[in-house]
Amino acid sequence: MSAKVRVRFAPSPTGPLHIGGVRTALYNYLFAKKHKGDFVLRIEDTDQNRYVEGAEDYIIESLNWCGIPFDEGPGKEGDYGPYRQSERKEMYRKYAEELIKTDNAYYAFDTAEELDAHRKDHEEKGKTFIYNWHNRQKLKNSLALSEDEIRDKLDADEDYVIRFKSPADENLHIKDEIRGNMDIDTSTLDDKVLFKSDGMPTYHLANIVDDHLMEISHVIRGEEWLPSLALHFMLYRAFGWDAPKFAHLPLILKPQGKGKLSKRDGDKLGFPVFPLEWKDPNSGDISAGYREDGYFPEAVTNMLAFLGWNPGTEQEFFKLNKLVEAFEISRVHKGGAKFDPEKTKWFQQHYMHEADDKIIAEKLEKILQLKEIEASSDYVLEVVKLMKERAVFVNDIWEQGYFFFVAPTSYDPKNVKKAWKEDTSNLMQELIKVLKEQENFKAEGLQAKVKAWIQDKEVGFGKVMQPFRLALVGAMQGPDLYEIAEMIGKQETISRLENAIKTLG
Ligand code: GLU
Repeated sequence: MSAKVRVRFAPSPTGPLHIGGVRTALYNYLFAKKHKGDFVLRIEDTDQNRYVEGAEDYIIESLNWCGIPFDEGPGKEGDYGPYRQSERKEMYRKYAEELIKTDNAYYAFDTAEELDAHRKDHEEKGKTFIYNWHNRQKLKNSLALSEDEIRDKLDADEDYVIRFKSPADENLHIKDEIRGNMDIDTSTLDDKVLFKSDGMPTYHLANIVDDHLMEISHVIRGEEWLPSLALHFMLYRAFGWDAPKFAHLPLILKPQGKGKLSKRDGDKLGFPVFPLEWKDPNSGDISAGYREDGYFPEAVTNMLAFLGWNPGTEQEFFKLNKLVEAFEISRVHKGGAKFDPEKTKWFQQHYMHEADDKIIAEKLEKILQLKEIEASSDYVLEVVKLMKERAVFVNDIWEQGYFFFVAPTSYDPKNVKKAWKEDTSNLMQELIKVLKEQENFKAEGLQAKVKAWIQDKEVGFGKVMQPFRLALVGAMQGPDLYEIAEMIGKQETISRLENAIKTLG
């Protein structure tokens, strides 16, 4: 690749970033880093009606959390700013006017009511109204009106739009880096609006002008933009600019495989579709996010990377730096990629097991702090070592190992029925005596001591060990009981036994 690679992620701040948007950003990031290029964030906020408070911050925070920060963008000014289209507003008009001069665009004065009437009229005849070469001479625009009429309307400040003059019958040959060569017939394309008399460009004009001015080399975006590709291609040609290379990423489908994964699916299907939790500023509704649900960013980026791409080998675990090495745009596939929430958990479990115990312990400490539970860092680290193997999320360590930090406040009734018999309280009293005698409260020594006592008494192991576990844990769960006793210590072990006798005896 000769010229410098510069790619951009260009979201509109109309709400939280969908997980599909994060994938688009990720692929742009991977491609940029692979080719030592720049990853630009451009905020496409020309449609003020759809602007949502907080959405831009959310987008930036999401990219940062995923570990895919942009090199240039709002707040990180490079040589191509500003990076919010609303702040670039003034520069688009001259490009729209240039297209009029070169006969690639025209003023259209048709009112919304008039266009509606045309649409209805067509619908009644079972047709679709398309504003283009076949009827534009009959509509109210600068191609059909006289020069005087046009001047009068402009002087009178009548509302207008500037439309692109799409060719009648041309066959466009356009290359997509993922889809290959495509032939597009222009005859059914409509003359898209590029600019409005309120001074705002539409997405199409602003997007092309900015990609050109920002020297974007590759446009990597979702498949939903494929229908705009012909227009964008023709706009570059009309301006006489070299077009960037295009790559349209496959759709992300619902887990069942039918239909696009939508923003609403998260709540419906029970897994997050947003990277971070999102609180809707209007309704106050909260949508789940991967971060708050306890996923690690490595798991999310690894999962997303495989939604539409694969390395061509059996390897599935890739941290971000390895993804950068392995990523090839040519290995992105065309077909839709099924979202698989279980696979995300599987990645999470892998990175959980791989993570440094100290890092997990720090996260667990935060959970404990929220619950106002005090424990030394060394102690928390020991718990992590004992519990990490079975956990998918850090919170699982709390849920499956709370008894390392707090005494049970209740006992699972089913287990009680099974384990706490009439003679159990006496047996537990005796156990307390045995434990009191034990100086060294390490798991191994304890085990030897208790085992010997049980054998001596000639009772079944279960008769002792089950109520013992119930007393320490509150249920029949958790790791080796002697490890638990060692961790919570002699005094606490005995006190939990006494409590159980009091409550269950
Ligand atoms: N603003 C568009 C979006 O919201 C950008 C599409 C593109 O990348 O060209 O996705």
